[in-house]
Amino acid sequence: MSLLRELAARDIDALLLERRHLAAGASGRNAGFLLEGMAANYAAAAREHGRALAREVWEFTAENHARLEEALAGAGGHRRLGSYTLAASAEEERELEAAADLMREDGFPAGYRAGRLLNPRDGELDPAAAVAALAEGGRVVEGCEVRSLEGGGVETNRGDLEAETVVLATNAYTPQLLAAAPIRPVRAQMLATAPAGELVVDRPTYSDWGYRYWRQLADGRLLLGGFRNLAPEEEVGYVEEPSDRIQAHLDRHLQAMGVEAPVTHRWAGIMGFTPDSLPLVGPVPGRPGLFVCGGYTGHGMGFAFNASRRLAGLLLDGQEPPAWMAPARLAWRAPSLLS
Ligand SMILES: Cc1cc2nc3c(=O)[nH]c(=O)nc-3n(C[C@H](O)[C@H](O)[C@H](O)COP(=O)(O)OP(=O)(O)OC[C@H]3O[C@@H](n4cnc5c(N)ncnc54)[C@H](O)[C@@H]3O)c2cc1C
Repeated sequence: MSLLRELAARDIDALLLERRHLAAGASGRNAGFLLEGMAANYAAAAREHGRALAREVWEFTAENHARLEEALAGAGGHRRLGSYTLAASAEEERELEAAADLMREDGFPAGYRAGRLLNPRDGELDPAAAVAALAEGGRVVEGCEVRSLEGGGVETNRGDLEAETVVLATNAYTPQLLAAAPIRPVRAQMLATAPAGELVVDRPTYSDWGYRYWRQLADGRLLLGGFRNLAPEEEVGYVEEPSDRIQAHLDRHLQAMGVEAPVTHRWAGIMGFTPDSLPLVGPVPGRPGLFVCGGYTGHGMGFAFNASRRLAGLLLDGQEPPAWMAPARLAWRAPSLLS
């Protein structure tokens, strides 16, 4: 939707094909955390990718938030209350303190106290409402499944199309159309409660290296998700259904937080993970005219709006997105095998 909006603003004849309905995928199922950075904390990201790249990624996501906030103009349940990252172990506590120090040195406004990192600039949104708010301009065809991209055309359940350019904004589902894509489908589960009578948490909270997350809506309902690390072999693939095992962990966590409000909703969605946890934005190697914009590794709210702007910049103005997003940085199957 973000990309279609960019293209429509430039009067490009673009069509969004969606096999179910808008926000049917992860964008309508997520926790609505609008965070700066990657899944890993700043210290871990700096260790893995180098400090300069960590800084660049954090700046990119800060820009994502600013641009998205501007586009939403108060719609989509957007609030900028800041977020907490809460240590779940002594090791994570040391790491978060180090992360806060590095962030401040690099110009990011992090606070740290007693195992809790505060990012005062982070935000939250109602993701499906945000998608709806962005759905202005551009043509959308719902109930239209792309079945094949082979042979130069686009084959769908509603007929075949010719397109000069095709963008796979299909995140986790990309390998279903392009088996060579270096994206892995990973399931995430959540629950929601009826309004709790009291304030349980005043900011979106992320804990245990990102494996647990919760926030409270303005009307008092609690959203809680995560725990996939406790059943990693099960939390993969394309089954968008919650499991008893993970939901029992979520129930126990709710109890531990002292929340007595009943659970009203339980659900699951599929995230698209890349080997280096960074997105894929740009041309598919060996496939002229085919592009990808996805692989957000559980953080699409924090990346996708700006990633779409960068892809539009490439398609319309020839401006290369940052090299750390280039699909060619990762191993795809040999180009000759792709078609
Ligand atoms: C439970 C959960 C919690 C999460 N929490 C957060 C969070 O708090 N913050 C955050 O930043 N990120 C979060 N994420 C990740 C975030 O939701 C995703 O990164 C983001 O939604 C990806 O957006 P997308 O538009 O690229 O993909 P999607 O929203 O998955 O959209 C892809 C669309 O492509 C359609 N499609 C697929 N194949 C075809 C085809 N062949 N033909 C036509 N259409 C097709 C699908 O139906 C789908 O609607 C979470 C994810 C989950 C599952």
